[in-house]
Amino acid sequence: MPPPTPEALRAALARVQRLDQRHHMHPFTDPRALVQAPPFVMDAAQGCYVMGQGLRLLDAMAGLGCVNIGYGRPELAEVAAETMKQMSFYHSFAGVTNPPAAELAARIAALAPGALNRVFFANSGSEANETAIKLINLYWRRRGQPGRRLLISRDFAYHGSTVATSALNGLTAMHKPFGIRTVGHVAHVASPFWYRFGGDLTPEEFGKRAADAIEHKIMEVGPQNVAAVFAEPIQCTLGAIIPPESYWPRVEAICRKHEILLVADEVVTGFGRTGRWFAQETFGFQADLMTLAKGLSSGYQPISALVMSDDFSDVIGEQSEVLQHGFTTSAHPVATAVALKNLQILEEEKLVTRIADDIGPYFAARLTTLEQHPLVGEVRVSGLIAGIEIAEDKASRRQYPVDLGVDQLVGQAALARGLIVRPAGNVLVLCPPFVISRAEVDFIVDALAEALDQIHTALMAS
Ligand code: PMP
Repeated sequence: MPPPTPEALRAALARVQRLDQRHHMHPFTDPRALVQAPPFVMDAAQGCYVMGQGLRLLDAMAGLGCVNIGYGRPELAEVAAETMKQMSFYHSFAGVTNPPAAELAARIAALAPGALNRVFFANSGSEANETAIKLINLYWRRRGQPGRRLLISRDFAYHGSTVATSALNGLTAMHKPFGIRTVGHVAHVASPFWYRFGGDLTPEEFGKRAADAIEHKIMEVGPQNVAAVFAEPIQCTLGAIIPPESYWPRVEAICRKHEILLVADEVVTGFGRTGRWFAQETFGFQADLMTLAKGLSSGYQPISALVMSDDFSDVIGEQSEVLQHGFTTSAHPVATAVALKNLQILEEEKLVTRIADDIGPYFAARLTTLEQHPLVGEVRVSGLIAGIEIAEDKASRRQYPVDLGVDQLVGQAALARGLIVRPAGNVLVLCPPFVISRAEVDFIVDALAEALDQIHTALMAS
């Protein structure tokens, strides 16, 4: 077959855009913007690159922080095809299982730190966190403390888009339009965001103070009313906020002291992103519950997991009563088989060790050179996750007004140079695939330096 003509390609693109504009309601998108400008059509991806509309872009966001083994791995396609032919679907309700689901649960338990040994499968990070919330309520009822219902979350948190998980999120913009109530369900406390809120304190002092904010809230509402503390080890979505070292051990100690459950949302950090299999190991703490998604299948299939400690799952399992919770596609055989293969690739190619010993330190060393730039207040890096803080005044750490969208402008300037990063409100977030090469890291840093120069020059001229 001869290749399609440029006219045919243009017509095909126009058709996709037309259908999409008419019928597709997009997540986290202004629907009016899509009426005015057509959606961007991405239609191919390989390694660290995504392609669409004649462009090839280095994806320093790994999709949305999920494509850890890189795009286009034939091994995963083969496993998916074989599993679909063998058993395209069967559910896991009422005591039925399938081989990849059992293998994957055991593999996750083996990799997970401490006594996190029991796995519930779902399809998205939101569902895993939603499952955690329901099971936590059940747990406290079983333990005869039904009054423990309050969840403590933090400013700048992102835990999902379902009703209950939205309430955990740290931005009121995610509650208000939908009338989601947090009062009585969720209490938000300060984020361990030293750069923005640390003032004159050292990061270590500020880390302790941010942890103590959790204890103050517990004492204010009464420990007997608090069910759990919900937290991402690194708050990725809203700014790649890496807490000071003093923070996590203290949070853990506070939770233990008041017998409050600690949930580590490792949806982004799980499976190697920080250079250890789980960020709990990087930061030196142990949660009672852990949620996982993105990196579990590197985004090749929708799959997520809630991993429970033995103590927690023993309480859930101590009474003979059906668990009234689950999703049709929980433990889907194709998704679990693909996730197993993904974990095998991470192990065989030693991709997590590579982050700790090789590409992570290189990424950090190269990226922190950007701290010399007049627009950059701080570059924070852990493994292959980074935040570049945009500052109006470096000395005082003063920010530009968020409405000015300086991060958006830098993001667009980077895109024009073939690089995808994510503006997140005066900060640029990066979390590239684990297979990124040194030359690709160099490209990221060069493209960002140019983008920052361009916007800095424009700001100085305005
Ligand atoms: N938790 C965290 C830490 C996340 O970053 C996200 C997604 N960005 C979620 C939960 C929700 O995951 P999903 O979009 O798969 O529902």
